[in-house]
Amino acid sequence: MLRVLTVFGTRPEAIKMAPVISELEKHAGLIENRNCLTGQHKDMVAPLLELFDIRVDYNLDLMRENQTLEHITTGVLHEVGRILREDPFDLILVQGDTTTSMAAALAAFYGGVRIGHVEAGLRTFDKHHPYPEEVNRKIIDSVSDLFFAHTEAAKRHLLAEGVPEGHIAVTGNTVIDALLDVSNRPYSFAGTPLETLPFDSKRIVLVTAHRRESFGDPFESMCRGLRDLALKYKERIVLVYPVHRNPNVRQVVNDTLSGIDNVLLIDQSPVARSGRGNPASYLKLFGEIRSLFAQSTDAKVQNFSARHFSFNSAGGGRCETCRGTGSISVDLQFLPDVVMTCPDCHGTRFRREVLEIKYRGLTIAEVLDLTVKDAFSFFRGQHRLQRRLKMLSDVGLEYITLGQPADTLSGGESQRLKLAAFLSRSGRSPTLFVIDEPTTGLHPADVVRLIDCLGQIAAAGHSVIVIEHDINFIRSADYLIDLGPEAGPAGGQVVAAGTPAEVARASASVTGRLLAGQAG
Ligand SMILES: [Zn+2]
Repeated sequence: MLRVLTVFGTRPEAIKMAPVISELEKHAGLIENRNCLTGQHKDMVAPLLELFDIRVDYNLDLMRENQTLEHITTGVLHEVGRILREDPFDLILVQGDTTTSMAAALAAFYGGVRIGHVEAGLRTFDKHHPYPEEVNRKIIDSVSDLFFAHTEAAKRHLLAEGVPEGHIAVTGNTVIDALLDVSNRPYSFAGTPLETLPFDSKRIVLVTAHRRESFGDPFESMCRGLRDLALKYKERIVLVYPVHRNPNVRQVVNDTLSGIDNVLLIDQSPVARSGRGNPASYLKLFGEIRSLFAQSTDAKVQNFSARHFSFNSAGGGRCETCRGTGSISVDLQFLPDVVMTCPDCHGTRFRREVLEIKYRGLTIAEVLDLTVKDAFSFFRGQHRLQRRLKMLSDVGLEYITLGQPADTLSGGESQRLKLAAFLSRSGRSPTLFVIDEPTTGLHPADVVRLIDCLGQIAAAGHSVIVIEHDINFIRSADYLIDLGPEAGPAGGQVVAAGTPAEVARASASVTGRLLAGQAG
């Protein structure tokens, strides 16, 4: 009986190992296979374990917040080493070029256990690209005993590196086996947008192409190839492409493939935590805007109350297809969940009858699309609304739209939104604010407004502590604490403290020298 330990951690590894595991399990009389999940991407791997019926015998559960390569490497090395000491195995199988595989192979090498490398021999010959995968591949292959190359080219690389031919088998890419496996399993598209899209009798070609090795020229050629394919078979195929968020992917895909009738690009936004909060609701503007719509004659004829102009409440005015979110989350099996625009309301979140009601010529959805700046002039005469909109302008948020989902705001924008909400309420007891780099992403002119706004808060009896690198911001503070002398581990000491004029005289302080230079 051959005892095999199959190790995987990331989603691609689980997909590519699934057919291998299923094959090992078919030979249960000869081979005893055990699966080890390292678990640093556990939420992403869970659906695949279910899809492929993979049993987890050892779950290392390594996932941590802000995990680093060091943490994954040492975690896998330590835990796989422990398993191999407690439970003897004849062979350990690892896949591809991840840090999981590299560390597991190293643990097996230390434990004197033979190593089989699935998808061996992939090379770019540039140790920094892709990083750290290229180095992982070489480390794994330098300690492996059995090499399962996915292509003849990969086999040639291994031979050139001195691997004996008898130790290499060209097995093809196991992802094809995984696809064949899935295509034989029952799956229903019912209830997903794929069911409602007008594919007619065309064949669907699902595209995923975002390997980091391919970025640049190779990726551009791939996209041009896809464009030619789509145009050549216009009547026969529809390309469905959930576009990865990486700008290297998004830019090229949009330049090459957008605007072609039979190419469907699906925008992959992060799945919204709730997608319901927005600047208008946060500043309590939304209720007032809804009342304005409800007061219109058309709304009264339809018997619509303010509630009908909310996309939050069921049975009101929201689109029921997307439950008022404007988008539908699609599970595409091998790919990350993608979010696509709701086919019924086209992302407006409201039902058609509600969108027929207009206030000053705009629908409720169009009003939510106004920027803070445009909304300020649109709501002329509505002083309470204008006063709150001015708060948003004062903290440098003039450019965001009223309906922008709060979870798409940057950290700095969220902080400024909270600040505006605070400013819009009066009569608060003295409060201490701690704000981390609020100027991030701000135009210099808006930095000046933000400084004014924080000045007003301080003048009203509150205190504000700001962590900042912006020199104009630093200069406007009442008191400075300069931490340094360098960033990260080389810092943490108080280098200088005092008023900006005092810190400017501290020669040991980089900030001080900067302040002195600006003053002179
Ligand atoms: Zn909808």
